[in-house]
Amino acid sequence: MKTTPIIGLEVHVELKTKSKMFCSCDANHFHVEPNTHTCPVCLGLPGALPVPNKKACEWCIKLGLALDCTINEETFFERKNYFYPDLAKSYQITQLQKPFAINGKLNIDGHEIRINRAHMEEDTGKSIHIDASTLLDFNRSGVPLVEIVSEPDIQSAQEAKKYLNKIQQVIRYIGISDADIEKGSMRCEPTINIKVEDETGVYYTPLAEIKNVASLTGVENAIDYEIKRQIDQYQSDKITKNSTNKTTRGWDADKNQTFLQREKEGSADYRYFPEPDIPPVIFSKDQIEEIKKTLPELPDAKIAKYKSYDLSDYDANLLAEDLSFSNAFDAIVQALIGKPEFNEFAKFTANLFSGAIRQKLNETQESFDISKLSGEYFSNLFKAVKNSEISSSVAKQVIVESYETAKDPVEIAKEKGLIQVSDTASLEQFAKEVIEANSKAVEDYRKNPLAIGFLVGQLMKVSKGSANPQLAKEILEKLLK
Ligand code: ZN
Ligand code: MN
Repeated sequence: MKTTPIIGLEVHVELKTKSKMFCSCDANHFHVEPNTHTCPVCLGLPGALPVPNKKACEWCIKLGLALDCTINEETFFERKNYFYPDLAKSYQITQLQKPFAINGKLNIDGHEIRINRAHMEEDTGKSIHIDASTLLDFNRSGVPLVEIVSEPDIQSAQEAKKYLNKIQQVIRYIGISDADIEKGSMRCEPTINIKVEDETGVYYTPLAEIKNVASLTGVENAIDYEIKRQIDQYQSDKITKNSTNKTTRGWDADKNQTFLQREKEGSADYRYFPEPDIPPVIFSKDQIEEIKKTLPELPDAKIAKYKSYDLSDYDANLLAEDLSFSNAFDAIVQALIGKPEFNEFAKFTANLFSGAIRQKLNETQESFDISKLSGEYFSNLFKAVKNSEISSSVAKQVIVESYETAKDPVEIAKEKGLIQVSDTASLEQFAKEVIEANSKAVEDYRKNPLAIGFLVGQLMKVSKGSANPQLAKEILEKLLK
Protein backbone atom coordinates (compact mmCIF):
# COMPACT_ATOMS: atom_id res chain seq x y z
CA MET A 1 0.00 0.00 0.00
CA LYS A 2 1.31 3.42 -0.95
CA THR A 3 0.06 6.54 0.83
CA THR A 4 0.60 10.15 -0.25
CA PRO A 5 -0.59 13.01 1.96
CA ILE A 6 -2.31 15.81 0.04
CA ILE A 7 -2.06 19.03 2.02
CA GLY A 8 -3.26 22.53 1.25
CA LEU A 9 -2.93 25.60 3.42
CA GLU A 10 -5.18 28.58 3.84
CA VAL A 11 -3.35 31.47 5.46
CA HIS A 12 -4.90 34.68 6.78
CA VAL A 13 -2.64 37.64 7.43
CA GLU A 14 -3.63 40.90 9.13
CA LEU A 15 -2.08 43.90 7.41
CA LYS A 16 -0.44 46.50 9.62
CA THR A 17 -2.05 49.51 7.96
CA LYS A 18 -2.83 52.51 10.18
CA SER A 19 -6.57 52.34 9.55
CA LYS A 20 -9.09 49.57 8.97
CA MET A 21 -10.17 48.14 5.60
CA PHE A 22 -13.39 50.07 5.01
CA CYS A 23 -13.37 52.89 7.60
CA SER A 24 -10.85 55.25 9.18
CA CYS A 25 -10.77 53.54 12.60
CA ASP A 26 -7.32 52.73 14.05
CA ALA A 27 -6.52 49.16 12.94
CA ASN A 28 -4.42 48.32 16.00
CA HIS A 29 -6.40 46.03 18.29
CA PHE A 30 -3.70 44.55 20.53
CA HIS A 31 -3.86 45.64 24.16
CA VAL A 32 -6.56 48.19 23.43
CA GLU A 33 -9.63 48.89 25.59
CA PRO A 34 -12.44 46.81 23.99
CA ASN A 35 -14.77 48.55 21.52
CA THR A 36 -12.85 51.83 21.44
CA HIS A 37 -11.63 51.53 17.82
CA THR A 38 -15.08 51.32 16.24
CA CYS A 39 -17.46 53.37 14.15
CA PRO A 40 -20.82 52.79 12.35
CA VAL A 41 -19.01 51.10 9.43
CA CYS A 42 -17.09 48.46 11.37
CA LEU A 43 -20.00 47.99 13.78
CA GLY A 44 -22.20 47.24 10.77
CA LEU A 45 -24.82 49.89 11.59
CA PRO A 46 -27.50 50.37 8.94
CA GLY A 47 -26.72 52.97 6.28
CA ALA A 48 -22.97 53.12 7.00
CA LEU A 49 -20.93 53.10 3.78
CA PRO A 50 -17.59 51.29 3.34
CA VAL A 51 -14.65 52.94 1.52
CA PRO A 52 -11.76 50.60 0.60
CA ASN A 53 -8.33 51.27 2.09
CA LYS A 54 -6.02 52.01 -0.86
CA LYS A 55 -2.84 51.10 1.02
CA ALA A 56 -4.27 47.68 1.96
CA CYS A 57 -5.19 46.96 -1.69
CA GLU A 58 -1.68 47.99 -2.81
CA TRP A 59 -0.13 45.73 -0.17
CA CYS A 60 -2.29 42.80 -1.27
CA ILE A 61 -1.02 43.35 -4.83
CA LYS A 62 2.55 43.69 -3.53
CA LEU A 63 2.25 40.34 -1.77
CA GLY A 64 0.77 38.83 -4.94
CA LEU A 65 3.78 40.07 -6.91
CA ALA A 66 6.20 38.69 -4.30
CA LEU A 67 4.46 35.30 -4.65
CA ASP A 68 4.84 35.37 -8.43
CA CYS A 69 1.09 35.81 -9.01
CA THR A 70 -0.75 37.31 -11.94
CA ILE A 71 -2.47 40.51 -10.83
CA ASN A 72 -6.05 41.20 -11.89
CA GLU A 73 -6.19 44.83 -12.97
CA GLU A 74 -9.92 45.04 -12.43
CA THR A 75 -11.39 43.46 -9.31
CA PHE A 76 -14.44 43.88 -7.13
CA PHE A 77 -15.59 43.04 -3.64
CA GLU A 78 -18.32 40.59 -2.72
CA ARG A 79 -20.46 39.88 0.31
CA LYS A 80 -20.09 36.49 1.98
CA ASN A 81 -23.21 36.02 4.06
CA TYR A 82 -23.28 34.02 7.28
CA PHE A 83 -24.44 34.57 10.80
CA TYR A 84 -22.06 34.68 13.71
CA PRO A 85 -22.12 37.00 16.75
CA ASP A 86 -18.68 38.48 16.01
CA LEU A 87 -19.77 39.45 12.48
CA ALA A 88 -21.85 42.56 13.07
CA LYS A 89 -23.13 43.01 9.49
CA SER A 90 -23.90 39.29 9.09
CA TYR A 91 -21.68 39.35 6.02
CA GLN A 92 -17.96 39.64 5.42
CA ILE A 93 -16.71 41.82 2.57
CA THR A 94 -14.29 39.63 0.61
CA GLN A 95 -13.35 38.61 -2.93
CA LEU A 96 -14.48 35.39 -4.60
CA GLN A 97 -14.59 35.70 -8.40
CA LYS A 98 -11.86 38.28 -8.94
CA PRO A 99 -9.13 38.21 -6.31
CA PHE A 100 -6.30 40.77 -6.60
CA ALA A 101 -3.76 37.99 -7.20
CA ILE A 102 -3.98 34.52 -8.79
CA ASN A 103 -1.77 31.65 -9.97
CA GLY A 104 1.41 32.23 -7.98
CA LYS A 105 4.06 29.90 -6.63
CA LEU A 106 6.49 29.47 -3.79
CA ASN A 107 9.61 27.36 -3.97
CA ILE A 108 10.28 25.10 -0.97
CA ASP A 109 13.69 23.37 -1.25
CA GLY A 110 13.26 22.97 -5.01
CA HIS A 111 9.63 21.82 -4.77
CA GLU A 112 7.16 24.27 -6.29
CA ILE A 113 3.99 24.88 -4.26
CA ARG A 114 1.36 26.54 -6.45
CA ILE A 115 -0.60 29.41 -4.98
CA ASN A 116 -4.20 29.55 -6.07
CA ARG A 117 -4.94 33.11 -4.95
CA ALA A 118 -4.32 35.98 -2.58
CA HIS A 119 -7.40 38.09 -1.97
CA MET A 120 -8.42 41.04 0.17
CA GLU A 121 -11.03 40.85 2.90
CA GLU A 122 -11.79 42.09 6.40
CA ASP A 123 -11.36 40.53 9.83
CA THR A 124 -14.24 39.83 12.20
CA GLY A 125 -14.65 40.94 15.79
CA LYS A 126 -13.53 38.79 18.69
CA SER A 127 -15.68 36.69 21.01
CA ILE A 128 -14.44 36.52 24.58
CA HIS A 129 -15.98 33.72 26.60
CA ILE A 130 -16.26 34.34 30.32
CA ASP A 131 -18.01 31.67 32.35
CA ALA A 132 -21.47 31.27 30.81
CA SER A 133 -21.45 34.55 28.90
CA THR A 134 -19.81 35.75 25.74
CA LEU A 135 -18.48 39.28 25.36
CA LEU A 136 -17.80 40.88 22.00
CA ASP A 137 -14.94 43.19 21.09
CA PHE A 138 -15.21 44.89 17.70
CA ASN A 139 -11.77 46.52 17.67
CA ARG A 140 -10.64 43.78 15.28
CA SER A 141 -13.77 44.05 13.12
CA GLY A 142 -12.81 45.39 9.69
CA VAL A 143 -9.03 45.06 10.07
CA PRO A 144 -7.53 44.38 6.59
CA LEU A 145 -6.96 40.69 6.03
CA VAL A 146 -5.27 38.97 3.12
CA GLU A 147 -6.13 35.34 2.51
CA ILE A 148 -3.51 33.24 0.71
CA VAL A 149 -4.72 29.87 -0.57
CA SER A 150 -2.26 27.22 -1.74
CA GLU A 151 -3.03 24.37 -4.10
CA PRO A 152 -2.85 20.97 -2.31
CA ASP A 153 0.77 20.49 -3.38
CA ILE A 154 2.29 20.10 0.08
CA GLN A 155 3.29 16.54 0.92
CA SER A 156 4.35 16.49 4.55
CA ALA A 157 4.01 18.30 7.86
CA GLN A 158 7.62 19.46 7.61
CA GLU A 159 6.99 20.92 4.17
CA ALA A 160 3.88 22.70 5.48
CA LYS A 161 5.97 24.23 8.22
CA LYS A 162 8.60 25.36 5.73
CA TYR A 163 5.90 26.82 3.50
CA LEU A 164 4.49 28.84 6.41
CA ASN A 165 7.95 29.96 7.47
CA LYS A 166 8.61 31.18 3.96
CA ILE A 167 5.26 32.96 3.59
CA GLN A 168 6.02 34.65 6.89
CA GLN A 169 9.53 35.58 5.74
CA VAL A 170 8.26 37.09 2.47
CA ILE A 171 5.52 39.05 4.29
CA ARG A 172 8.05 40.45 6.75
CA TYR A 173 10.48 41.30 3.92
CA ILE A 174 7.85 43.39 2.18
CA GLY A 175 6.79 44.91 5.50
CA ILE A 176 3.01 44.51 5.27
CA SER A 177 2.41 42.57 8.51
CA ASP A 178 4.31 41.19 11.48
CA ALA A 179 2.75 37.81 10.55
CA ASP A 180 2.96 36.55 14.12
CA ILE A 181 1.10 33.25 14.54
CA GLU A 182 1.21 33.32 18.34
CA LYS A 183 -0.26 36.83 18.35
CA GLY A 184 -2.91 35.91 15.79
CA SER A 185 -1.83 38.31 13.04
CA MET A 186 -1.16 35.21 10.93
CA ARG A 187 -3.55 32.25 11.11
CA CYS A 188 -3.56 29.05 9.13
CA GLU A 189 -5.90 26.21 8.40
CA PRO A 190 -4.46 23.05 6.87
CA THR A 191 -6.67 20.84 4.70
CA ILE A 192 -5.59 17.21 4.51
CA ASN A 193 -6.50 13.93 2.92
CA ILE A 194 -4.56 10.88 1.80
CA LYS A 195 -4.21 9.26 -1.59
CA VAL A 196 -4.06 5.50 -1.02
CA GLU A 197 -2.88 3.14 -3.75
CA ASP A 198 -3.10 -0.62 -3.27
CA GLU A 199 -3.73 -3.70 -5.41
CA THR A 200 -7.48 -2.95 -5.59
CA GLY A 201 -7.15 0.63 -6.84
CA VAL A 202 -6.69 4.26 -5.88
CA TYR A 203 -8.68 5.79 -3.02
CA TYR A 204 -8.89 9.15 -1.31
CA THR A 205 -9.70 9.48 2.38
CA PRO A 206 -12.31 12.11 3.39
CA LEU A 207 -10.97 15.65 3.43
CA ALA A 208 -10.39 17.19 6.87
CA GLU A 209 -9.94 20.87 7.56
CA ILE A 210 -8.15 21.65 10.82
CA LYS A 211 -9.04 24.73 12.85
CA ASN A 212 -7.58 26.54 15.88
CA VAL A 213 -3.92 25.83 15.28
CA ALA A 214 -2.09 28.59 17.10
CA SER A 215 1.61 27.95 16.49
CA LEU A 216 4.01 26.71 13.82
CA THR A 217 4.82 23.62 15.85
CA GLY A 218 1.09 23.13 16.29
CA VAL A 219 0.62 23.08 12.51
CA GLU A 220 3.35 20.48 12.12
CA ASN A 221 2.01 18.29 14.94
CA ALA A 222 -1.62 18.60 13.82
CA ILE A 223 -0.77 17.52 10.26
CA ASP A 224 1.37 14.61 11.43
CA TYR A 225 -1.40 13.48 13.74
CA GLU A 226 -4.04 13.79 11.03
CA ILE A 227 -1.99 11.88 8.43
CA LYS A 228 -1.60 8.97 10.81
CA ARG A 229 -5.23 9.10 11.91
CA GLN A 230 -6.54 9.02 8.34
CA ILE A 231 -4.30 6.11 7.34
CA ASP A 232 -5.35 4.16 10.45
CA GLN A 233 -9.00 4.91 9.72
CA TYR A 234 -8.61 3.79 6.12
CA GLN A 235 -7.11 0.49 7.24
CA SER A 236 -9.77 -0.22 9.83
CA ASP A 237 -12.73 0.86 7.64
CA LYS A 238 -11.52 -0.90 4.47
CA ILE A 239 -12.98 1.85 2.28
CA THR A 240 -13.89 0.56 -1.14
CA LYS A 241 -15.20 3.73 -2.68
CA ASN A 242 -14.11 7.30 -2.58
CA SER A 243 -15.72 9.58 -0.10
CA THR A 244 -16.77 13.12 -0.91
CA ASN A 245 -17.36 13.93 2.72
CA LYS A 246 -15.53 16.83 4.23
CA THR A 247 -15.11 17.16 7.95
CA THR A 248 -13.96 20.00 10.16
CA ARG A 249 -11.65 19.06 13.01
CA GLY A 250 -10.26 21.11 15.86
CA TRP A 251 -6.72 20.92 17.19
CA ASP A 252 -6.19 20.26 20.88
CA ALA A 253 -2.62 21.36 21.58
CA ASP A 254 -2.65 19.95 25.13
CA LYS A 255 -3.73 16.45 24.11
CA ASN A 256 -1.74 16.75 20.87
CA GLN A 257 -4.63 15.45 18.79
CA THR A 258 -7.37 16.58 16.42
CA PHE A 259 -11.04 16.06 17.29
CA LEU A 260 -14.19 16.02 15.20
CA GLN A 261 -16.13 19.28 15.09
CA ARG A 262 -18.51 18.91 12.14
CA GLU A 263 -19.11 15.89 9.92
CA LYS A 264 -20.49 15.50 6.41
CA GLU A 265 -20.31 19.16 5.66
CA GLY A 266 -21.68 20.21 2.30
CA SER A 267 -20.16 23.35 0.90
CA ALA A 268 -21.94 26.08 2.85
CA ASP A 269 -24.12 28.44 0.87
CA TYR A 270 -22.75 31.87 1.59
CA ARG A 271 -24.99 33.52 -1.03
CA TYR A 272 -22.06 35.49 -2.40
CA PHE A 273 -23.03 38.57 -4.40
CA PRO A 274 -21.16 41.71 -5.50
CA GLU A 275 -20.87 44.34 -2.77
CA PRO A 276 -23.27 47.02 -4.01
CA ASP A 277 -21.71 49.82 -1.93
CA ILE A 278 -18.22 49.58 -3.48
CA PRO A 279 -17.56 50.16 -7.18
CA PRO A 280 -15.06 47.90 -9.03
CA VAL A 281 -11.44 48.53 -8.05
CA ILE A 282 -9.07 49.24 -10.92
CA PHE A 283 -5.28 49.32 -10.85
CA SER A 284 -3.62 50.20 -14.16
CA LYS A 285 -0.57 48.36 -15.52
CA ASP A 286 1.51 51.43 -14.63
CA GLN A 287 0.24 51.47 -11.06
CA ILE A 288 1.02 47.76 -10.68
CA GLU A 289 4.48 48.44 -12.16
CA GLU A 290 4.99 51.17 -9.53
CA ILE A 291 4.04 48.73 -6.76
CA LYS A 292 6.48 46.19 -8.20
CA LYS A 293 9.28 48.73 -7.90
CA THR A 294 8.75 48.87 -4.14
CA LEU A 295 9.57 45.17 -3.75
CA PRO A 296 12.89 44.51 -2.00
CA GLU A 297 15.27 41.79 -3.15
CA LEU A 298 13.38 38.68 -1.97
CA PRO A 299 14.75 35.74 0.10
CA ASP A 300 15.29 33.36 -2.86
CA ALA A 301 17.29 35.99 -4.76
CA LYS A 302 19.32 36.80 -1.65
CA ILE A 303 20.16 33.13 -1.07
CA ALA A 304 21.19 32.61 -4.69
CA LYS A 305 23.42 35.68 -4.46
CA TYR A 306 25.12 34.45 -1.28
CA LYS A 307 25.75 31.05 -2.81
CA SER A 308 27.44 32.82 -5.72
CA TYR A 309 29.83 34.23 -3.07
CA ASP A 310 30.71 30.59 -2.24
CA LEU A 311 28.92 30.77 1.10
CA SER A 312 27.46 27.53 2.48
CA ASP A 313 23.73 26.75 2.34
CA TYR A 314 23.62 27.29 6.07
CA ASP A 315 25.26 30.74 5.93
CA ALA A 316 23.19 31.82 2.93
CA ASN A 317 19.92 30.93 4.65
CA LEU A 318 20.94 32.46 7.93
CA LEU A 319 21.93 35.76 6.31
CA ALA A 320 18.71 35.92 4.28
CA GLU A 321 16.46 35.14 7.25
CA ASP A 322 15.71 38.77 8.02
CA LEU A 323 15.75 41.71 5.59
CA SER A 324 17.57 44.30 7.74
CA PHE A 325 20.18 41.72 8.78
CA SER A 326 20.68 40.75 5.16
CA ASN A 327 20.82 44.36 3.95
CA ALA A 328 23.44 45.21 6.57
CA PHE A 329 25.56 42.30 5.38
CA ASP A 330 25.16 43.41 1.74
CA ALA A 331 26.26 46.95 2.62
CA ILE A 332 29.39 45.71 4.40
CA VAL A 333 30.64 43.34 1.73
CA GLN A 334 30.36 46.20 -0.79
CA ALA A 335 33.64 47.42 0.74
CA LEU A 336 35.61 44.81 -1.20
CA ILE A 337 33.35 44.23 -4.17
CA GLY A 338 35.25 43.24 -7.31
CA LYS A 339 38.46 42.51 -5.34
CA PRO A 340 40.12 39.09 -5.65
CA GLU A 341 39.67 38.43 -1.90
CA PHE A 342 35.93 39.28 -2.06
CA ASN A 343 34.62 35.75 -1.40
CA GLU A 344 37.03 35.32 1.48
CA PHE A 345 35.86 38.64 2.93
CA ALA A 346 32.22 37.58 2.51
CA LYS A 347 32.92 34.39 4.45
CA PHE A 348 34.76 36.34 7.15
CA THR A 349 31.84 38.78 7.45
CA ALA A 350 29.27 35.96 7.40
CA ASN A 351 31.08 34.30 10.33
CA LEU A 352 30.96 37.48 12.38
CA PHE A 353 27.30 37.99 11.45
CA SER A 354 26.23 34.49 12.44
CA GLY A 355 28.24 34.69 15.66
CA ALA A 356 29.08 37.93 17.44
CA ILE A 357 26.69 40.26 15.60
CA ARG A 358 23.71 37.95 15.87
CA GLN A 359 24.35 37.38 19.55
CA LYS A 360 24.55 41.12 20.18
CA LEU A 361 21.31 41.61 18.24
CA ASN A 362 19.53 38.99 20.32
CA GLU A 363 20.75 40.56 23.54
CA THR A 364 19.91 44.16 22.70
CA GLN A 365 16.92 43.74 20.37
CA GLU A 366 15.84 47.08 18.90
CA SER A 367 18.57 49.29 20.35
CA PHE A 368 21.21 47.74 18.09
CA ASP A 369 21.06 49.56 14.76
CA ILE A 370 22.66 47.00 12.51
CA SER A 371 22.65 49.38 9.53
CA LYS A 372 25.31 51.46 11.30
CA LEU A 373 27.99 48.76 10.99
CA SER A 374 30.85 50.03 8.86
CA GLY A 375 32.14 48.20 5.82
CA GLU A 376 35.47 49.98 6.12
CA TYR A 377 35.95 48.71 9.68
CA PHE A 378 35.05 45.17 8.66
CA SER A 379 37.57 45.24 5.82
CA ASN A 380 40.32 46.67 8.08
CA LEU A 381 39.65 43.88 10.54
CA PHE A 382 39.58 41.30 7.76
CA LYS A 383 43.03 42.41 6.53
CA ALA A 384 44.45 42.34 10.07
CA VAL A 385 43.17 38.77 10.62
CA LYS A 386 44.49 37.71 7.22
CA ASN A 387 47.95 39.09 8.12
CA SER A 388 47.81 37.22 11.46
CA GLU A 389 47.93 40.49 13.42
CA ILE A 390 44.59 39.76 15.03
CA SER A 391 43.20 36.32 15.95
CA SER A 392 39.65 35.44 14.92
CA SER A 393 38.59 35.27 18.56
CA VAL A 394 39.83 38.83 19.12
CA ALA A 395 38.02 39.89 15.94
CA LYS A 396 34.69 38.75 17.45
CA GLN A 397 35.43 40.70 20.56
CA VAL A 398 36.44 44.00 18.97
CA ILE A 399 33.81 44.14 16.22
CA VAL A 400 31.01 44.61 18.73
CA GLU A 401 33.03 47.16 20.68
CA SER A 402 33.74 48.98 17.46
CA TYR A 403 29.99 49.33 16.90
CA GLU A 404 29.50 50.65 20.42
CA THR A 405 32.33 53.19 20.29
CA ALA A 406 32.33 53.92 16.53
CA LYS A 407 36.10 53.28 16.59
CA ASP A 408 38.18 51.23 14.15
CA PRO A 409 38.28 47.66 15.54
CA VAL A 410 41.98 47.33 14.69
CA GLU A 411 42.73 50.45 16.76
CA ILE A 412 40.72 48.95 19.64
CA ALA A 413 42.77 45.77 19.44
CA LYS A 414 46.01 47.79 19.50
CA GLU A 415 44.90 49.88 22.49
CA LYS A 416 43.96 46.77 24.42
CA GLY A 417 47.18 44.96 23.62
CA LEU A 418 45.28 42.32 21.65
CA ILE A 419 47.45 42.39 18.55
CA GLN A 420 48.41 38.82 17.89
CA VAL A 421 51.85 37.97 19.17
CA SER A 422 53.82 36.20 16.48
CA ASP A 423 57.31 37.08 17.67
CA THR A 424 59.08 33.99 18.94
CA ALA A 425 60.73 35.55 21.99
CA SER A 426 57.45 36.65 23.61
CA LEU A 427 55.76 33.36 22.73
CA GLU A 428 58.63 31.39 24.29
CA GLN A 429 58.24 33.46 27.44
CA PHE A 430 54.50 32.59 27.58
CA ALA A 431 55.26 28.92 26.80
CA LYS A 432 57.77 28.65 29.65
CA GLU A 433 55.24 30.09 32.10
CA VAL A 434 52.62 27.61 30.95
CA ILE A 435 54.94 24.58 31.14
CA GLU A 436 56.02 25.54 34.65
CA ALA A 437 52.48 26.03 35.92
CA ASN A 438 51.02 22.84 34.37
CA SER A 439 53.29 19.93 35.22
CA LYS A 440 50.37 17.49 35.23
CA ALA A 441 49.37 18.47 31.68
CA VAL A 442 52.99 18.21 30.56
CA GLU A 443 53.08 14.63 31.86
CA ASP A 444 49.82 13.89 29.99
CA TYR A 445 51.38 15.26 26.84
CA ARG A 446 54.35 12.90 27.16
CA LYS A 447 51.87 9.99 27.09
CA ASN A 448 49.48 11.46 24.55
CA PRO A 449 50.60 14.16 22.07
CA LEU A 450 46.96 15.25 21.61
CA ALA A 451 47.09 16.74 25.11
CA ILE A 452 49.01 19.66 23.59
CA GLY A 453 45.60 21.28 23.01
CA PHE A 454 45.19 22.00 26.70
CA LEU A 455 48.61 23.65 26.93
CA VAL A 456 47.90 25.79 23.85
CA GLY A 457 44.65 26.82 25.51
CA GLN A 458 46.52 27.83 28.65
CA LEU A 459 48.98 29.82 26.58
CA MET A 460 46.13 31.64 24.84
CA LYS A 461 44.74 32.47 28.26
CA VAL A 462 48.05 33.75 29.62
CA SER A 463 48.48 35.90 26.49
CA LYS A 464 44.88 37.19 26.86
CA GLY A 465 44.01 35.68 23.50
CA SER A 466 46.75 37.57 21.69
CA ALA A 467 49.07 34.64 20.84
CA ASN A 468 49.08 33.23 17.33
CA PRO A 469 47.73 29.75 18.17
CA GLN A 470 49.59 27.90 15.42
CA LEU A 471 52.95 29.41 16.39
CA ALA A 472 52.19 28.87 20.08
CA LYS A 473 51.64 25.17 19.44
CA GLU A 474 54.89 24.84 17.51
CA ILE A 475 56.89 26.60 20.23
CA LEU A 476 55.37 24.51 23.00
CA GLU A 477 56.21 21.34 21.10
CA LYS A 478 59.75 22.56 20.51
CA LEU A 479 60.32 23.40 24.21
CA LEU A 480 58.83 20.08 25.36
CA LYS A 481 61.13 18.00 23.17
ZN1 ZN B 1 -14.65 51.74 11.97
MN1 MN C 1 -11.03 34.21 4.59
